[in-house]
This record gives sequence, structure tokens and C-alpha cells, in this order.
Amino acid sequence: MNNQALIEKFRLLPSVDEVLKVLDDRQVKIPHNLIVEVVRRTVESYRERIIKGLPCEDSKETVLREIVEMSEVNLEVACRYNLRPVINATGVVLHTNLGRAILSENARRAVQTIANGYANLELDLTTGKRGSRYSAVEGILTGLTGAEAALVVNNNASAVLLALGTLARNKEVIVSRGQLVEIGGSFRIPDVMAQSGAILVEVGTTNKTYPEDYRRAVSENTGLLLQVHTSNYRILGFTRETTIEEMVEVGRDYDLPVMSDLGSGFLVDLSRFGLPPEPTVQEVVRGGADVVTFSGDKLLGGPQAGIIVGKKKYIDLMKKNPLTRAVRIDKFTVASLEATLRDYLDPKAALQKIPTLRMLTALPGELEYKADVLVEKITPLVGELARVTVEKDFSRVGGGAMPITELPTTIVSISPRHISLDEFTSRLRRYTPAVIGRVQDNRLLLDPRTVLDGEEELLVEAVVKCLQASS
Ligand SMILES: *Cc1c(COP(=O)(O)O)cnc(C)c1O
Repeated sequence: MNNQALIEKFRLLPSVDEVLKVLDDRQVKIPHNLIVEVVRRTVESYRERIIKGLPCEDSKETVLREIVEMSEVNLEVACRYNLRPVINATGVVLHTNLGRAILSENARRAVQTIANGYANLELDLTTGKRGSRYSAVEGILTGLTGAEAALVVNNNASAVLLALGTLARNKEVIVSRGQLVEIGGSFRIPDVMAQSGAILVEVGTTNKTYPEDYRRAVSENTGLLLQVHTSNYRILGFTRETTIEEMVEVGRDYDLPVMSDLGSGFLVDLSRFGLPPEPTVQEVVRGGADVVTFSGDKLLGGPQAGIIVGKKKYIDLMKKNPLTRAVRIDKFTVASLEATLRDYLDPKAALQKIPTLRMLTALPGELEYKADVLVEKITPLVGELARVTVEKDFSRVGGGAMPITELPTTIVSISPRHISLDEFTSRLRRYTPAVIGRVQDNRLLLDPRTVLDGEEELLVEAVVKCLQASS
């Protein structure tokens, strides 16, 4: 299109005010500024359409009508919540992009109850004096883990930062080379160390580190021995890491505290369900670690939080650090964490009550049955629109934990026939509720492991509607 033709087309565009006038008559009930912004963007997008030479209306009247209609759709989108529920059919139990752990019924109820009114967050109801927000969870944490004291902060990254900054500011921290990991989201041990003011001293090699390596690295300025769970990767083959007991022995000889950043932090051993044997928090505490940090929303299955347990003298120092105030948890975290921890008081029941544990320990037969049910419901409704089959596959733990662990599952595979796979998955993402599956070999895979009870009907409906819809 030449310039003259473009200018002619631009003349058809209404002003923002002209669109607003039509919309005003229809009484859109949202703040005026927001409406103006949405209309401005809509007119702008129509201008782009003209520039790109895409099909457009050819009279002032019809262009206005179309822009008004587009504005109404955009306004509806603008009124929708940005944070929305998603059906997780990826089979990744702790999916960081999908909010990691989901809360147990008790935890959800606790949040609701506390959200409904005032609470004794920092008031000791026995004495009437000021209390600590941590007291609601500290006793249960020490009871469950066997540690002397506990503290909870915003997330595990801030727990590590706080612990290092408190125990080793301007001091050397000895870490095995095989544990200098990047956890993701720019959490890299060397960077966190630098941020905390501690000085990193690497020892050993990528695959082997011996107690002697730590001993040789100890200097007058050593403040801490640190063990980091490698979480999202594994070094296999000719390897040796120093155990927590061995590190504690070195620490005792030189009067140095030993800290373990466990990352996920198991409270129950899941190895009998086919998950790799991992030391539980209790075992690491029993092994003599002075400070242990782990996440609230990874394998623990609770809210986002960074849990610190260990010797009272070190935890007390952390409680006095001004950074603790900056990374403190809110009342909803206290409420849901307390409820989650109470679920653990009966470890057998915890496997059923805590969704993360329930999903991780789901039996293959149960998952096969769920996949069969989904296919039986979907197939007759979609007819020729897609090829729907059941297949054996594997789910993942996620959340940077157990990267090579494959959990056997049965998935539903869907190949749309009349629309592209891209179009299908895009529709599912925009559907209410949004559905996220796994794309593999030009098919969409739905893993029932992470689909919650009660979501099956919604999932079937979403799949069917998104295969049918013509736009
Ligand atoms: C995940 C992880 C962290 C960060 O925990 P967040 O709760 O995500 O802040 C730190 N260290 C290790 C070893 C981890 O696995």
C-alpha cells in the first residue's frame, strides 16, 4: 500500500473519544482511566492492522463498529483476574510456574479462618503480652524435626541468605565444588554467598570431596561449613560427597558450625513409594547439623516459606538480625504452615491429607483407572475432532527436586485433527479454567497424577470445547 492509500485508510479510524461515546451509552462499569487505556490500545492495534495490509472495514461507520466490538472484548479481558486457577495436567507435581505445592484442606481452611478476622499473630493470649509470630509454628517444627529451635522466613532463598549473613558475614564459608549449584530463578550459591557478605571457599572437585578437603581449607577466618543439596541435577558415576556426619566431625574439631541447605526438605521417607532415598530433615538434624534450611512449598507440601531449624544459639542470632524483619512471613503463611505441619503429626495420614504427598505416592493402578475414565468421557464427545489414546508414561516430581526420578503413570494423548496443536493448547490456556498439559511429539499429553479430584469434569469439558470452537 502506498502512502496516500495508507493515509486514506487512517482517516477511517475513529478517535478514542468517538469510541468512548458509544461505549458510554452501553454503561461499562469499570474505572474511566482503564477504559480509555483499553480503547487507545484497541484503536492502535487496528492501525497496526492497516499498516500490515490485513483485511479491514472500508467505511468510517463499519470501522467504528468493529473497534467498539473489539474494545468490548478487550475490556472484558481487562476485567478478568490476572491470577487464575489452572488445571495442572502436566504430571509435574511441584511445578514452579504453576505455583508449586497446593495446600491441604486443613491448610486452606486455616487461611480462610484467619483471613476472616483478627488473630493473635503477635499476641500471647496467656499473658496478654506481645508474642512472636513464629511461636505458632516453632514448637511443632522442633517437635517434628528434633531441632532445638526454628524460624520461618519468606522462602528458602531468603533463609539461606539470612543464615549466611548472620553466621558468616565477612567470614569464609567452605563448600564442596560439587555443590555450587544454580537452583533456577537466579539463585546461585556463589551469588547468594556474595550477597550475604560471606566469602566462598571451594574445596574438592566436581565429583569428589573428602573430609580432608574441608580440614585443609579451615583458616582463622572460617565461619561456617556449608552443605548444599544439588536439587536439580545429579553427578553420577565416580562420585563421593562428604556426609553431614563427617562434616559435623570436622566442625567439632575446629569449633565451627555446620549448615545444610536441604532445598526440598522431606519430613517423611518416601523411598518405599519408589522415590529415591533422601535424608529427611530429622536425619540431618540427628546427624548433628547446626542449621538446616528447606522450602515450605516443595516436598513439604505447604505454603511458600523458608524454614530454618537448628541449634538455639544460632537461631537466636538470626532472630535478632534486622534482615529477618525484611523477609518475615505474613499471617496467611503462619496459618497454612501451622496446619500443614499439624497434618504431619500423624505421618500415615499426612500421605493422604497433603496433596503433594498424595500425588507423589499415587499408585499406578489408580492413575491408569483415572486415565481410562478421562478417555471414555472424552472420546464420544470429540468424535472425529481428535485422536485420543491412553499410553504409559512418566510423571516428574518438579520443583528442582529429584531431577532424574521418573514416576510411572498413564497419560491421555490427544492429537487434534482439524486445528493445529498450537491452536489447541493456546485455546486451553485461555479457557476458564486454563488447562496446561505436556506437549510431546506433536501431541498433547494429559497426566491424571496432578489433576485434582473434582477437576476431571472441567478438564473433559475444556478439551471438548477447545477442540470444537471454530475461532
Ligand atoms: C529450591 C532451593 C532453594 C530455594 O528455595 P525457594 O523456597 O525456592 O526460595 C535453595 N536451595 C536449594 C538447595 C533448593 O533446592
